Amino acid sequence: MTEELISLLKDHSPRQKRALLIEKMDQLEQTGFGCEKCQGGWCCTFEYNSMRVSPLEAIDIYLALVEENKWNDELIHHLQHTQTKYRLDKEIFLGRGNTLRRTYTCPFFTEKAQGCSLSRAHKPYGCLAFNAQKSEVTDAGFCGSDQVLLEKQVVANQDDQINQLLKTYLTLDWDKKDIPSALLEINNQLINLSNSID
Ligand code: SF4
Ligand code: SF4
Repeated sequence: MTEELISLLKDHSPRQKRALLIEKMDQLEQTGFGCEKCQGGWCCTFEYNSMRVSPLEAIDIYLALVEENKWNDELIHHLQHTQTKYRLDKEIFLGRGNTLRRTYTCPFFTEKAQGCSLSRAHKPYGCLAFNAQKSEVTDAGFCGSDQVLLEKQVVANQDDQINQLLKTYLTLDWDKKDIPSALLEINNQLINLSNSID
């Protein structure tokens, strides 16, 4: 990676980049409004989840998985299966650069309440900002996103600058993509880059 990009990534650790959102989650938990009493984890299933991530959010997840030795053929197959099952690889263009936002069960959801297998330090910002709005969630529809805090976090991080560098370095033509497609594309582009250097 370019020196400028490496230095920007080092200056802002994944946890630092999510500090405001994690702090809010902690506060919600302390006041009994966290997700710990959730009985379903509906927000991660195809019924409600259409999470998209920026290149920077995707690279945070990707590097964490590589570091934890979880980026392997089994996971790649799972991501590809999710892509196919929910037609995430079939983009429908809506004009003005927008594409249809599809729903999908997240490949990191473990099919139980609070079932995300990613740590808070690496979750997509949108997932951290989406929380319960009552103390005990027994059904879908009682949760929501703190969009104001989400925007504040992105601005505080200088994410636009890092995302632009990542897009250039990895020759990405998108600003946001669903999680499986973003991870697979970043992996492919890194392989292409490494092959071109060899
Ligand atoms: S990353 Fe985690 S919290 Fe976000 S949709 Fe996937 S399983 Fe749910
Ligand atoms: S946001 Fe709602 S559905 Fe998702 S884990 Fe929290 S309480 Fe459950």
